[in-house]
Amino acid sequence: MAELRRTAVVDVETRVTIREPAINNSATLVVGDTGTGKTSLLATLAEWVYMKYRKVTRLVAADPGGWGDMMSALIEAGVVEVWRVCSRDPDGRNGLPVGTVALASQGYWPTVINQATGDSPVAVDLKAPAAVWWEMICPKCEQAAKRVQTKGQLTAGPCKHCKTMVTPVNCKRVDQIIVRDPSFGKVGAVMFDGLTSLAEWCMTDINARAATGNLGGEKGNMNTVHSSGLSFGTSGRGGVGFVQNRGMDWINNSLNIQGLVVPPYFTARELRATDDDAMPIYGPKLIGKAKTSDIPSWVGNCLGTTIAIGAEGRREFRLYLQEYREPGSTIPHLCKVRSIPGVCPEYLADDEGEEAFTKFNLGHFQELVLAGRAKATARTNSRLELKDGKADPVASEDVPLAVKSQKPPSEPIKPATTPAAVRPATRPVGPPAAQPATAPAVAGRPAPRPPAAAPPAARPRPPAGRPAVPPPAKK
Ligand SMILES: [Zn+2]
Repeated sequence: MAELRRTAVVDVETRVTIREPAINNSATLVVGDTGTGKTSLLATLAEWVYMKYRKVTRLVAADPGGWGDMMSALIEAGVVEVWRVCSRDPDGRNGLPVGTVALASQGYWPTVINQATGDSPVAVDLKAPAAVWWEMICPKCEQAAKRVQTKGQLTAGPCKHCKTMVTPVNCKRVDQIIVRDPSFGKVGAVMFDGLTSLAEWCMTDINARAATGNLGGEKGNMNTVHSSGLSFGTSGRGGVGFVQNRGMDWINNSLNIQGLVVPPYFTARELRATDDDAMPIYGPKLIGKAKTSDIPSWVGNCLGTTIAIGAEGRREFRLYLQEYREPGSTIPHLCKVRSIPGVCPEYLADDEGEEAFTKFNLGHFQELVLAGRAKATARTNSRLELKDGKADPVASEDVPLAVKSQKPPSEPIKPATTPAAVRPATRPVGPPAAQPATAPAVAGRPAPRPPAAAPPAARPRPPAGRPAVPPPAKK
């Protein structure tokens, strides 16, 4: 009986916060030259997130160009929380940029911040958006009897709801749960403005290390420059490659931030580079040109901003949702949207006489994405004739996957007998490790050994035909 109870400890159930609309499986990138409206577009997204979901947006700002009036008004109103991330280590001499961007991309936020300017003190502590906790579930009231931060802290104690004594042995089960930090509960969107500046800031970190001579690897093409009591260095290609590789990490990290109502948004400046076939392209700039043609594949949507000359010479801000070329040019700007065809137009632009940022607006874009999502769901339901929108697959019969031989390797193979006769004869010699009595240790203590005197023959055999799948033994 005790063995059965102990397995409850390792029977960990993971409860994870469900992301609200199921569209956050990739990030969105907005690419364009300075002055083509990228940061203003981020402001339109923050507006929409607040209007539709009553959630605030966190802006990790690295562009030295700052932000315009629309964003300022949203910051003042508390709809946008801004962090001028470079204020944590402005010239990279504290060795913090690479780590800071890695943490910021996971949703970490300063514990001390000036809400008006977004400045944080140098080397400020950062707080995680969520933490993993362990809960021991009460066997009587089935509520969380105890919640702790490490599994080792799950010790016996009275249930905080019904006072029943709960121990790791008698508990109903142990849950591993992700708990959002209370300060993150109001956050619905995160935006990084932008990728290029974050990479440049990380280069200051790498170059500062090169100046102190502790970077190793290939050296830059000049010696350390000493000026006014400071040392300046330039890293070689290894440093550039290192920062290029961080870019994909940042985007991937951001996908694990829980509770967002829109995908994580990044901006990037645009760069003319070449693709794998040495053909010229325009794409997002990180550091150098090597990754420019790859970056669009790191995100779900890659949108392009540009100022076009429309009818009667009118300057028109456009947000391209597909690859486009400027008039008279054959060089493509890499853009794409992962949405069902027939929902998103080639580009979004305000009509003449229309209020600015009516269609040149990321909230408008998100509405299109939601419409595409609804259309795809309707199509699936009708084509597959689903009831209540849920599949009802047919399960195949329960068959054993594989049966492991129980014979110890040293035992000589006995001549032909019926399998039924061989098995009972060899079982008693088998190592005790093959028996299910060795449940994982509880709270660091070794599991009690099964009584040595117990004859193995007394142990009930598992019923024939049961699949030889090992019990879940996760730690
Ligand atoms: Zn209880």
